[in-house]
Amino acid sequence: MLQLPTVRQRRADYPDTANLCEHCTAKCCHYFALPIDEPTERQDFDFIRWYLLHDRATVFVDDGIWFLLVHTTCKHLLSDYRCGIYETRPRICRNYTTDKCEFENDWCYDQYFETAEQIDEYAEAMFGPDPVTQGSPEGCVRGRKPTGLPLA
Ligand code: SF4
Ligand code: SF4
Repeated sequence: MLQLPTVRQRRADYPDTANLCEHCTAKCCHYFALPIDEPTERQDFDFIRWYLLHDRATVFVDDGIWFLLVHTTCKHLLSDYRCGIYETRPRICRNYTTDKCEFENDWCYDQYFETAEQIDEYAEAMFGPDPVTQGSPEGCVRGRKPTGLPLA
C-alpha cells in the first residue's frame, strides 16, 4: 500500500517536477460529477430532492453551475491507488491533469446539499411548501407504498 502523509497535502510541499499522483489516494477516482440544469421552478427542486434521496449522491454549486456528485469508487482502482486499466482507461481519465485537480482540494463549494431535507428547506424558502409532495395522494409507477397504506 502506498504510504501517504498524515497531514493535509499541499502542492507547495512538492517540487514542480513531482508527480502528484504518486502522493495521492486517487481522489479523482472516487466520484463522478455531472452538470445539471439550474433549478428555477419548484418542481426542479423536487428532482434534486430525488437525487439526494439516493445513497452517496450530493449536489453542489460552483461558479453558478449545478452538479450532481456521486461518491463512488471506480471499479478499476487498485489497492495502491493506481489504475487497473491504465492502458485502456477512458478519455476523461486520460485528459485529466494534475494542474487543477483536487489534490489539495478542501471540497468547499458555493453551495453544497447532502440531504433531501436541505434542498427542500432551500426550495421552501423560495417557493413555500411543495403542494405535490405535502401529503397529496397522487400515484405513479414509482409510488410504491409501504404495506398497509391505502391505494391512491
Ligand atoms: S489527478 Fe490529482 S486527484 Fe487524481 S490521482 Fe492525480 S493528484 Fe490525485
Ligand atoms: S479508469 Fe483508472 S484512472 Fe479512470 S477512474 Fe478508474 S481507476 Fe481512475
